[in-house]
Amino acid sequence: MNLLRASGIRRTYGSLQVLKGIDLEVEQGEVVAIVGPSGAGKSTFLHILGTLDRPEQGSVFIEDVNVFTQKDKDLARFRNEKIGFIFQFHNLLAEFTALENACMPGYINGSMNEKDILERGKELLEMLGLKDRANHLPSQLSGGEQQRVAVARALLNKPSIVLADEPSGNLDSHNALELHQLFFKLRDEFGQTFVIVTHNEDLAAMADRRLVMQDGFMQP
Ligand code: ADP
Ligand code: MG
Repeated sequence: MNLLRASGIRRTYGSLQVLKGIDLEVEQGEVVAIVGPSGAGKSTFLHILGTLDRPEQGSVFIEDVNVFTQKDKDLARFRNEKIGFIFQFHNLLAEFTALENACMPGYINGSMNEKDILERGKELLEMLGLKDRANHLPSQLSGGEQQRVAVARALLNKPSIVLADEPSGNLDSHNALELHQLFFKLRDEFGQTFVIVTHNEDLAAMADRRLVMQDGFMQP
């Protein structure tokens, strides 16, 4: 069984056909990299995989759930529990500490109690080398540290899949490499599955698969 299966995904903006029928299957524990020129539709596709946007045609199954057939409320819950997101700009909330930011997704569905959320958040920060940064505000952290807090936040609810859109696009090469190594560590130790849009060819080369999106199609 594939963890994720997208079939025949089409998306247009006005008269612009961005995605022209894209299929993707991802197995548990795979790290899949998607590269391609700017404007190719990579972010659009990732947003659809993450249920943040809907295709005009096509379907997405995650763990055998046909995601877009769910009611909006169920879909929001599914998204928060099953999908972790990492973006190029960490989008941490400036007035909250690293720990509070990391814990944020735990409070959304209300299925975890406060103590467990904090425990999970602390455990993740420690694993990501941020134990002594837990009470710092984002502005008191380096770029690499901020992005690792974003990784902790993405992992808080133990998602089935992590979707990352140019996660190292704003980091220097040293911090980028550290972040990439972290992804593979999470895959090796926990079987975490990743789909990563990137311009970083070192990361793409390390991935299990490197796919190219171009002209609205996915080229192997
Ligand atoms: P990539 O991530 O590969 O750079 P995007 O998925 O962001 O590409 O964008 C693909 C194309 O769709 C681009 O031409 C972009 O301008 C267009 N596009 C993206 N989002 C929107 C939107 N909300 N409304 C209109 N056009 C959009
Ligand atoms: Mg993009």
